[in-house]
Order: sequence, then C-alpha cells, then structure tokens
Amino acid sequence: MMKEFQWKTILKLSGEGGSITFLGKKNEREHWIYKRNINEIFSLEEMDDHPPNVEYQPSKTIKKLKPTVRKSNEATHWDSARKMIEEYPLEYLKPVHVHPEFAEKVWDIISTKKLPKHRLKLWVKACFPTTTNEIFELFYALTKSKHTVVLTGAGMSVESGIPDFRSPSGWWKNIDPLTVATVEALEENYDLFYEFYSVRINTLKGCEPHEGYRILAKWERSDLIHEVATQNVDGFHFKALSNHVDELHGSILTYRCHQCENEASRDQFLNKESCNFCNGKLRPNVVLFGEALLEKAWNNALNHIQQADLVIVIGTSLQVYPVSQLPKMTNGKTVYINKEVSEFQSLFDVKIEGSARDTLIAVDQLIRS
Ligand code: NAD
Repeated sequence: MMKEFQWKTILKLSGEGGSITFLGKKNEREHWIYKRNINEIFSLEEMDDHPPNVEYQPSKTIKKLKPTVRKSNEATHWDSARKMIEEYPLEYLKPVHVHPEFAEKVWDIISTKKLPKHRLKLWVKACFPTTTNEIFELFYALTKSKHTVVLTGAGMSVESGIPDFRSPSGWWKNIDPLTVATVEALEENYDLFYEFYSVRINTLKGCEPHEGYRILAKWERSDLIHEVATQNVDGFHFKALSNHVDELHGSILTYRCHQCENEASRDQFLNKESCNFCNGKLRPNVVLFGEALLEKAWNNALNHIQQADLVIVIGTSLQVYPVSQLPKMTNGKTVYINKEVSEFQSLFDVKIEGSARDTLIAVDQLIRS
C-alpha cells in the first residue's frame, strides 16, 4: 500500500483581510513538494505598519492573482518555493506559523530583508520560539554595531573543563588567591606557588576550547567582533583561531625566570628546575596579584573599548581590578553573559543569565554571514 503523506503548513503569513499559507508534503520518494494557499486576497494598504507614503508595487505574479485564484501550482524544489514566498512583501506581513523543519530556511529569506526591529523580533520568535528577548537584543545589537569588543573571564572556560575562581566548584573554594597567585608566594612560599600552577597547567591537558570560543573566532572573521580582551591565561581564544586577542593577565603556556626574565620551557617549570642562567625561580608568564597588567594588552583593550558601540562581557565576576573597570569605560551598549547576573543590575544594558557556550550558540543561530 502506498504511504499517504499529509500537507503541512510550513509558513503562514497574515495581513489585514486574509492570510497566505505555504504548504509542503513529502512525496513517495521522501522529497518535499510545495504549494501556496490564499484564504483571501489581502489589502496591503490596510496593513497596520505599511508606510502610507510607500506604494507597494506587486510583482507580476501577484498582479495576476484574482480573489478566486486560491492555490498555486505545486513546486518540487525549495528554490521555487522560496521564489513563491519572496513574491510577497514579507516586510509588511506577520508570521503566524513557521514549521520547525523550515525555520532555518525561512530565516535565511528573512535575514536578507531590511526589517524594522519589532518586525524582525516577530520573525525570530516565529522561527526560533525559544529565543529570549535578551538573546534577541544581543543579536540585534551585534548586527547593528560597527565596533564590538568581547571581554571574557574564567566562566568562559568552565564548559571546556577548566574551573573558574569564585564559583562553588572553582579553584578558590578552598584556597585564597591572595596566598597563592602572588609575588609573595612565588618569592617566599615557592612550593605552594609551584603546586598551584602545576595543577592548573596539568588541568589544561586534554581540555579544548568549546563551541562558544569557535563562534567568537568566526564572528571575528565575519567582521562582527573586532577585539577580544581576556582575563584568562589558558590561550583558548588563540587556540580557537581568534586573532585579535589581548591577554590582560598573561599566559600560562609560556614561562620565564622571575629574577633574570630569561625564557624557560614548560618542562623546566613542571620539573621544578631553576633558571639555567641565574639559578632563579621559574614561573608562568601570568600576571600575579600585586603585579601591573601587561601595558600593551591593557592599552589596546582600553582603546578598543573606548571606541566600541557594543561591549559583550562573558563569564567574569568582575572582582579583579582594573579589568573590572573596563565595562564602565565605553559609551557603547553593554551586555553581560554570566551564570549569575544579579550583582550588576545597573551596570549593563542587557543581562543574560546563563551559560557562555549556550548563549553564544543561541545568538549564532540567528547570525547569517
Ligand atoms: P571568577 O571565577 O571570579 O568569575 C567567573 C564568573 O563566571 C562567575 O561569576 C561565575 O558565575 C561565572 N560562570 C561560571 N561558569 C560559567 C559559564 N559556564 N557560563 C557563564 N558564566 C559562568 O573569574 P574571573 O572574573 O575571570 O576572575 C578573574 C581571574 O581569574 C583572572 O585573574 C584570571 O586570570 C583568573 N582565572 C583564569 C582561568 C583561565 O584562564 N581559564 C581560570 C580561573 C581563573
């Protein structure tokens, strides 16, 4: 017996006075076929936000439609269905329903149109119903901004398997940073200093930058973001192929002698060797509490933040000075993505309480570039 396939609504649009439905069904070979149904010929002039001074010129196909013509021929390819859909002034129609299987395809069409913000939001909600207002705001700001800077902290790497500092499962649950990651510890309690950093270096083994890191690198290539400033020392932004990165707190991947500043290798540090040149103590090239930030990285980050239209701050408790001041140094829009955001109610224009990775994935779903 031949399998019976039902027509499904893949896209329903409404205007004043009627609706248009695009239907699809699978044929016996599991290929989609498409057709259009018109309930009534609607009047564009009556539509709520159709600008009265803009005269809509219907395409030839629409001009030919009479109120009695209600169904189109069937189309066997999405390209033909897409043309059928694009015959309509989507800017002025409301999406009533988008079939989840066609959400990406419909969004591809919509993202080529110049829609006012409130219309765009309706389409985002129709295509991707789980999108929150805050995710939409970030997406919209990102596409409008001419200069965007991202500032990341330890929370950005938690989903790569590297603990942050201040979360309940972070490094500092049992250890006070001021007793370990300091110049005093390095100089006076080297065993403790060495122990802490060797554990952190070993934790990096087998950890990789997650999808969110790769999305930021992709956005840089698409000219959507222009600089990343990070407090992280794990090198993950570079590993994920971002190029414009300021490592404000240095890097745990390179080493030097604390005394003569000559370069050392990771193995020398992990083997707890002394400096080949002066017998001094070896250390990672991280900025310790009590040390000044790397001037070049700081100046570069500050310069970008001062010119930014948009600053996106991700996964930091903003407890460490002076990086904690950077979000205040922009006149641009500020967005905060963090596991908990309540502390910073007034500092940011948009606050997204959630995971760094999932939030970036959700925004990226809307980006077409
Ligand atoms: P922090 O530990 O003080 O704050 C991290 C923040 O991220 C917290 O508010 C936490 O709620 C949030 N968070 C945790 N998981 C998250 C997730 N999956 N998504 C979104 N947010 C999440 O870290 P900080 O503010 O970066 O502190 C600064 C210091 O921490 C810096 O000196 C930095 O060098 C150091 N640090 C670096 C690393 C690293 O390089 N990966 C790791 C730990 C600490």
